[in-house]
Amino acid sequence: MNVRLAAAGCALALLPVALPAQQPAPAPPREISILIRGVTLIDGTGAPERPNVDVLIDSGRVAAVAPGGSLTADSVIDARGLFAIPGLIDAHVHLGTDPWAERAGALRRALAGGVTSVFDLAGDARATGDLQRAVLAGQIPGPRIYYVALFGGSSFFSDPRTADASRGYAPGTAPWMLAVTDTTDFAHAVALAKGTGATGLKLYAALDSTEVTRASAEAHRQGLRVIAHATTFPAKPSDLIAAGADMLAHTPYLVWQGSPRSADWRHRASGDFLHVPADSPAIERLLASMRDRGVALNPTLWIFANELPHDSVSRVRTPWMYAVTRRANQLGVRIVAGTDDMYDPKVDSLPVLHRELELLVDSAGLTPLQAITSATANAAWAIGIADSVGTLAPGKAADLVLLGADPAVNIANTRDVRLVMQGGRVVRPR
Ligand SMILES: [Zn+2]
Repeated sequence: MNVRLAAAGCALALLPVALPAQQPAPAPPREISILIRGVTLIDGTGAPERPNVDVLIDSGRVAAVAPGGSLTADSVIDARGLFAIPGLIDAHVHLGTDPWAERAGALRRALAGGVTSVFDLAGDARATGDLQRAVLAGQIPGPRIYYVALFGGSSFFSDPRTADASRGYAPGTAPWMLAVTDTTDFAHAVALAKGTGATGLKLYAALDSTEVTRASAEAHRQGLRVIAHATTFPAKPSDLIAAGADMLAHTPYLVWQGSPRSADWRHRASGDFLHVPADSPAIERLLASMRDRGVALNPTLWIFANELPHDSVSRVRTPWMYAVTRRANQLGVRIVAGTDDMYDPKVDSLPVLHRELELLVDSAGLTPLQAITSATANAAWAIGIADSVGTLAPGKAADLVLLGADPAVNIANTRDVRLVMQGGRVVRPR
């Protein structure tokens, strides 16, 4: 369905045959309005489902939400028996530098599978920005793309992934993949990072508490979100919370709160899970302070449970990760869904986010509605776009998914995708 073309044809037919001279130019053709009739609405805020609702879409936005049968529009989608959720947001992807066609294909499939926005948490900003531009220009279908620039200590730039993400630059000198120390001019470094088009800063590894504090303060001053690995070696989770990070990524890294400070970021996934139990006072205090300071948790359950090697560490780490994520949610820490992957045909025919949602519910104790909020309103908050995306309410972008079965009853029903709309355009079925 091409709604815009139909609208243009319709409006042109209504123009007067001859315009008098001096008349102002006619207004551009209006997009046709679309009514989603009789749907059960899950708005993304965590509020209970609302059965039999009409959702009016106009000019790419939600114009009105009202009781079923009360609204009219140019075009009607009969959604009786269907369930509407906001477009899903994967707030931890890496679009990488694979061949362009491959990444474009993954973006197209992610969108068709209900993911209407993604947050890329480190990569080559040139490549990611090009994909962002191509999506905005309508050259490829895909989720709305937002991305970060990365800061790390100089020792981190021995990691070969950093060279891959900054070809043409000496390691640690690309504005989006920058080595910093406590003598760095952070106002300049953050301005360079922001100039890449990034909307957030990622604090990755080999950073101490002074560095993360200065970087975070300056990033916030310049209007960037601050996302951090949950420990940055030697800075601990509590240092990152004190520094004002907006979101900590990877639940397993929280374990370092209960261990002596270490500068060895290479062991980040192999903390002392046996001696720092999930219910230890150090972890309990940490989670309470995340809640009190408004710091979100980006658990990334699936990548740890399924993609990292199954070994003696993972056997302890995986249940630890589930238990700490569960406790964080119980305490009221904002949970933000992310996969650390996005779409991988070897894993699933749908975006990996559907699996992450299932783990959040089945293994970490979120209710289905909480899981949906983690991938909609909370993810939009993490990116910094909650005023326009992530919930279904008047004025918000018309990014939504219609499902054939109730995800509040069984979270696996997010897989039953019947229609995907992005910015008021139906992108599946096309
Ligand atoms: Zn990642």
